[in-house]
Amino acid sequence: MFVLGHLGVGSRLLFGWRARLPALWLYLGCLLPDVIDKPLFYLFGPTPLISGTRTFGHTALFLLAWVLLALLLRRPWSTALAAGIATHFLLDVAGEMVSAPDPESSIWLAIFFPAFGVRFPVAHFATILEHLEISAQSGYVLAGELVGGAILLSAWWRGRRRSAG
Ligand SMILES: [Zn+2]
Repeated sequence: MFVLGHLGVGSRLLFGWRARLPALWLYLGCLLPDVIDKPLFYLFGPTPLISGTRTFGHTALFLLAWVLLALLLRRPWSTALAAGIATHFLLDVAGEMVSAPDPESSIWLAIFFPAFGVRFPVAHFATILEHLEISAQSGYVLAGELVGGAILLSAWWRGRRRSAG
């Protein structure tokens, strides 16, 4: 998981640039790799190829495609989407640094796909419930969710006060 972390912490990684990007597209980008890969695994995995929740949406090729599209289109929505996806990668890689999973589950298998073979990181869970259970034991995930949730809550509160005043 890591929804609030990706939204709250991820969007803040862009600092002042964030204010110039359309928020909805940015938030969609922050979640997009998981929005694609998680349902794919929960619905159709595990298979020899779809071996975990980090597959096609977590490849450098996926990120590169969106960055190139953003550079080509030069539209606020495409820039926001690409920037959000980039923050997703940053946070997932940071999580990998903290948790140091076994080589078979490493996110680098996905990022450098297909350089290390036509395979993706192997998940040590089969269902969304098992995934939640494992995530709940990760300090990185819990801290990310708490900090991200607090950031989103305070932004919502400030927006409410602005519109009320
Ligand atoms: Zn992810």
